[in-house]
Amino acid sequence: MGIIRTVMGDIPQDNLGLTLVHEHILCDFIGADGVSKERYNSIEVYHTILPYLNEIYRYGVRGFVDCTPAYLGRDVHLLADLSKASGISILTNTGLYKEPFLPKYAFELSVDQIADVWVREIRKGIDGTSIKAGFIKIAVNPGEMIPIQQKIVRAAARCSLSTGAIIACHTGEGVAAMHLLKILGDEGLDPSRSIIVHCDAEGDLKYHLEAAHRGAWIEYDALSEQSAKRTLKLIDVMVKSGFEDSLLLSQDAGWYHVGEKDGGDIRSYTYLVRDFVRLLSEEGFDRGMTNKLLVSNPARAFKMDFT
Ligand SMILES: [Zn+2]
Repeated sequence: MGIIRTVMGDIPQDNLGLTLVHEHILCDFIGADGVSKERYNSIEVYHTILPYLNEIYRYGVRGFVDCTPAYLGRDVHLLADLSKASGISILTNTGLYKEPFLPKYAFELSVDQIADVWVREIRKGIDGTSIKAGFIKIAVNPGEMIPIQQKIVRAAARCSLSTGAIIACHTGEGVAAMHLLKILGDEGLDPSRSIIVHCDAEGDLKYHLEAAHRGAWIEYDALSEQSAKRTLKLIDVMVKSGFEDSLLLSQDAGWYHVGEKDGGDIRSYTYLVRDFVRLLSEEGFDRGMTNKLLVSNPARAFKMDFT
């Protein structure tokens, strides 16, 4: 059995439980040059976000994957404090987003040197703490990938190969997803160690099917009341095509918006577990399928067999 690397330490894969695989506690879109913990009061953020986590705990959520990367507001102390208080296992990440959220080191270091920085955050800890990353979060631009993003994808592949951590790649459309899988393949990474994040943003289903066919995880993470019908259809097609073991669901919800009064307009994390699971059952998906989508698939995706 694999382990899941949470901000509170490693847990057996089977202990992760019902999990939201793509959400955010806090984001700051000021850019890599301006981002800083001085820009917010972490105690205020803690008290703002904790009730939202307590709410999903009551609906059975036990795992929460925080997808905010470094230079976009990743704050591992905050995540650890919230995990402790809520009883929810939170995962944080290593990796980098895209321009203008890239630090100088992304341009200056070699692919292997970047991978080494990230491997250390998985094996040793982040920002001088012993809090370790449980996955790799990256992003690519739409269409064919620009050189700096190609470099980041290669670094992610090498980091994944040496740690076993999965790569969640922000990939809003099909051409970028295919380019991503090509580079990961060139690096020798098994596609099952990659998640096509925001796959529901791609309107052409052939890309969903092709990425799943190649072995990547397909993440539908824009779930909300507005998108529910469409997401149900996507799930239906994917399940009927035999890809139920490759699907991940989440809401990309939250978050405390740094720079806005009281954290701005925060979307709660409850829709999926409070409402959407009922729609799944009305649609004819049994409990086993819900369990697969929200419990066993997340655990298989985020498990690390070696570290
Ligand atoms: Zn996100």
